[in-house]
Amino acid sequence: MPKKIAILGSTGSIGENTLRVIADNPGRFEVVALAAGSNWERLAGQAREFSPRLVSVADPVNAGHLRNSRSCGARVLSGDEGLLEVAAGAGADIVVSALVGSEGLAPTLAAIEAGASIALANKEVLVMAGELVTQRARARKVPILPIDSEHAGVSQALAGRPRGREVLRIILTASGGPFRTTSLESLCGVTPAEALRHPTWKMGPKVTIDSASLMNKGLELIEAKWLFDLSPEQVDVLIHPESVVHALAEFVDGSMLAQMSVPDMRISISQALCYPERVPCQVPRLDLARLGSLTFEEPDTGRFACLGHARSVLVEGGIAPAVLNAANEVAVEAFLGGHIGFMEIPALVGAALEGRPSGSGDSLEEVMGADRWAREFTASRLNGVRSKVRP
Ligand code: MG
Repeated sequence: MPKKIAILGSTGSIGENTLRVIADNPGRFEVVALAAGSNWERLAGQAREFSPRLVSVADPVNAGHLRNSRSCGARVLSGDEGLLEVAAGAGADIVVSALVGSEGLAPTLAAIEAGASIALANKEVLVMAGELVTQRARARKVPILPIDSEHAGVSQALAGRPRGREVLRIILTASGGPFRTTSLESLCGVTPAEALRHPTWKMGPKVTIDSASLMNKGLELIEAKWLFDLSPEQVDVLIHPESVVHALAEFVDGSMLAQMSVPDMRISISQALCYPERVPCQVPRLDLARLGSLTFEEPDTGRFACLGHARSVLVEGGIAPAVLNAANEVAVEAFLGGHIGFMEIPALVGAALEGRPSGSGDSLEEVMGADRWAREFTASRLNGVRSKVRP
């Protein structure tokens, strides 16, 4: 029986790569539902190729376009209702959670309640509500399978070894992004186009900006804590510009295991979809002799303050990570829109963390309240910053 797959975010970078993996494995999977944001035309093309029973887009007007496009024989929904139905109402065995940012939280929780395995690319889900999401997944006995390449690497390096007795720490690598060697002064003037030019990975715009600010690695530390049940002291970051080693695990006997591959998301997607099997993946082979050397260095939290902010909320817990995440989402959007400078991103996140209310973050309502507070706070600060930026 083919595994039934639903994809939240099918027209994004992870969604498209997931569909390529599915197309490369005929007979292994059946696509039952697809949800996209605004790109209804691409979704119509995907529906033609994969024949899901259900598709959904954000906007009801685009849902109308989809219904009228004769190519789409699927049931068409829209908005939050559509996302929830794709996540929990299509009978999927695996839900690929690949929306961007906080909008993925409610549908991912719904998929868990429906008993689907989660293939998780949307790291913000665990950053915002790690405790809640992992608790519910345990209660429903559904696995959360990481698509994030570093976490897929950790999972392989740990290979189920007992956390408490044998594992000292895990290390996530970061390429360092396009500004790894850029001076602090020059960072103030970098443009969105420069920040979007990632040296090793091809990804969507939000995660690419997060990679340039190292916020992505900060979010991944929090994600790793929840996925692998580790303490804040057990998760670490190393800069590795070649993006060949994705993660390492260090054990009490002094051994380190590293997971290596070419930087291509199809590898971790295929592992999550086929878990616990490994199947052939049509990616370039890693040629270590041609690479010759691999290099590593400490991250510079002086230039990349987002990583420091993420570390502090990792230790603190409660609603602090949800505040960090929401403030970052608002700041990144403003930077991409050309409204603020690159270094305003860590400044706005820092301001939100300083001014935030407190809370334990153990209910969805509280997490969403913290998310709303941080969005409003950061938006109001933006107006002040915006006027200071050169036109
Ligand atoms: Mg990653």
